[in-house]
Amino acid sequence: MEFELRAEYAEGTPPRSGEARDTTWHMTETGGVRVLCGRDLDPAAETRPAEAWGTDAAEPFCRSCGARYLRQGQ
Ligand SMILES: [Zn+2]
Repeated sequence: MEFELRAEYAEGTPPRSGEARDTTWHMTETGGVRVLCGRDLDPAAETRPAEAWGTDAAEPFCRSCGARYLRQGQ
């Protein structure tokens, strides 16, 4: 199973606004909008490769998604 990061934007922030401080990153199956912590995110939201997890490019990252991702396929 392949995973990627998907952005959750703070209320009122347009997608792809570039306002990183208003963005939280979640983990989802590639191409999916249902993130591991159970929310459905905007299909138009920015995605990044799963390899970005744990780097500055994926901060702040959803702790629930991080914990669930660690339990996937380990
Ligand atoms: Zn999450």
